[in-house]
Amino acid sequence: MALPRVVAVAPGSPADRAGVQPGDEIVALDGQLPRDIIEYQLLADQASLGLEVSRGGIEISLQVEREGGEPLGMEVDAALFDRVRTCDNHCEFCFIHQLPKGMRKSLYVRDDDYRLSFLYGNFTTLTRFTESDLERVLTEGLSPLFVSIHSTDPEVRARMLRNRRGATSLRWLRALLDGGVEVHGQVVVCPGVNDGDVLEATLAGLLDEYPELASVACVPLGVSRFNHEQAMRPHGAAEAAFVVDLVEQWQEIFLACTGRRLVYAGDEYYLVAGRPFPALETYGAVAQHDNGIGMARAFEAAFEGRDLGEDLGEKGPSGFFRSLEGAPALGYRAPRAPGAVTLLPRRAAGITVLTSEYGARVLAPLIAPLPGDIEVLAVRNEFFGGNIAVAGLLTGADLSAVLAGLPEGRRYLIPDSCVSGGNFLDGMSLQDLPRPVEVVPADGGSLRRALEPAQACAPRRPALAIAK
Ligand code: SF4
Repeated sequence: MALPRVVAVAPGSPADRAGVQPGDEIVALDGQLPRDIIEYQLLADQASLGLEVSRGGIEISLQVEREGGEPLGMEVDAALFDRVRTCDNHCEFCFIHQLPKGMRKSLYVRDDDYRLSFLYGNFTTLTRFTESDLERVLTEGLSPLFVSIHSTDPEVRARMLRNRRGATSLRWLRALLDGGVEVHGQVVVCPGVNDGDVLEATLAGLLDEYPELASVACVPLGVSRFNHEQAMRPHGAAEAAFVVDLVEQWQEIFLACTGRRLVYAGDEYYLVAGRPFPALETYGAVAQHDNGIGMARAFEAAFEGRDLGEDLGEKGPSGFFRSLEGAPALGYRAPRAPGAVTLLPRRAAGITVLTSEYGARVLAPLIAPLPGDIEVLAVRNEFFGGNIAVAGLLTGADLSAVLAGLPEGRRYLIPDSCVSGGNFLDGMSLQDLPRPVEVVPADGGSLRRALEPAQACAPRRPALAIAK
């Protein structure tokens, strides 16, 4: 078990006043070594706290005094201090198995750890969940959690996970729901495996066995050119339309039986099927925004400056980590670039927004009515083989190839979802690109603000172009 290392201390904070320094390793908080940031938070939540740290190999005792709910004021280097629990499944559709070698290390972590589900909204299959995990979740109130369901048929689920425990591990889902834990589910739909009748049986099974679920996302598998599983293929337009129709039919059934729509199809299905997205209001308070559920409609509303409402504005994964003092997501869910990085002078000839093919289809109608020289450029994902069209998987190589053919003097905007710590998935950095770019947070409000200086300019260009 690694000792948590302090990476930052806020000036004037209780930790600073007690003499904590960056680089200190925490040996004990209130006499105990926490296993993770959740336990750390619980132990640290008191007005007077004994802290043992190791500094240069010497153990030092410090006393931290907090006044009236003051934050502790120190950050540590990880969220888990013991080992991350990795998955024991071998799913045919696993995207991690479809990554080439040499990408960012954190991308290869196949975690199946309920703590990361609580902290970051990562999905767990529960195949490694135990009785003591259940006790901890219930005692410490670790809610909400995010569970991969895929199928309610035990045999289908075990086959999809390639793990016999997949047939039985949904008993933990039942126990979590019985314990009052808020659980959001997902079904990764694979054509020919768990679509069609199997998907319909799964939706019926959810209503029958797990109606307390807070939401269930039906999302398509991703298929990269590095896929070696012969049976895995992307959905065609008719298959995507089938999923949309089935989910919408079942929303009505869930609405009638539970008062909630409960099940949602990912935005990608609407794009592949060529259907309009459902109205924003139909998504309710679904906390699966990062899973592509209602993301396009929320983006559109924020871009147009419409109020998302309290529920819709809080659709991030668990919400917990936002208010958590302490550890970064590095290693488990890569943090995005911290805010817009402005590298270009604002007095530029015009603006080009470079994004993925799906991203461009969402942005183009929003940008078309704006005055000024603004265009959206769809960048094809050659790196992963063209079946992948989401912005989060854009690579430096593909952006670089497109930017090299574009003129100097324009502002080039890219979404922050494809950048982590200044690097793209393929290891290229922002500085490696042939044109300076601005990294804009991938929400509608941020993009709108980034475009504002251009709106006084003329002339106009066509709003959407496809990079060749
Ligand atoms: S459970 Fe997730 S990480 Fe593990 S093999 Fe399946 S898809 Fe991959």
